[in-house]
Amino acid sequence: MPISKDKAVTIHYAVKNEAGETLDTSRGRDPLTYLHGGGNIVLGLEKALEGKDTGAKLEVTLPPEEAYGVRDEKNVRNVPLRKLATDGTIAAGAPVRVQTADGVQMARVVAVRGDYATVDLNHPLAGMPLAFEVEVVAVRDATAEELAHGHVHGPGGHHG
Ligand code: ZN
Repeated sequence: MPISKDKAVTIHYAVKNEAGETLDTSRGRDPLTYLHGGGNIVLGLEKALEGKDTGAKLEVTLPPEEAYGVRDEKNVRNVPLRKLATDGTIAAGAPVRVQTADGVQMARVVAVRGDYATVDLNHPLAGMPLAFEVEVVAVRDATAEELAHGHVHGPGGHHG
């Protein structure tokens, strides 16, 4: 069945940056299952997959606006170290969890100075055009429970 809103779609994918380096791929592990039309994958990819069917292969290059968004320099902030949590050491390049007014967000440390760190809350792939290679593995109707939750269940899904 063709992909449309409220289908549970299983895909294999690979994503590359402008330099052609593979940033992430499902090849070699389980494919990804997502709820189509739920904003669970990047906008441009959802658009490109609309109407495609099992077995379809596509390659699509997305501008940042249709992928992980543009960088916002307001998301680079000075934060007291006590607002940061990490499983490792707080140092430049390290991933950290930041307490913000909007809740806990993931960020990367840019620099540490005294009791403060400069952190970048932008998505690591924000501002980048990305090339996706996708193969549609399966398409099925989402269950009522999946639609209520806004994500898929079972193998490759949210709880599995
Ligand atoms: Zn659920």
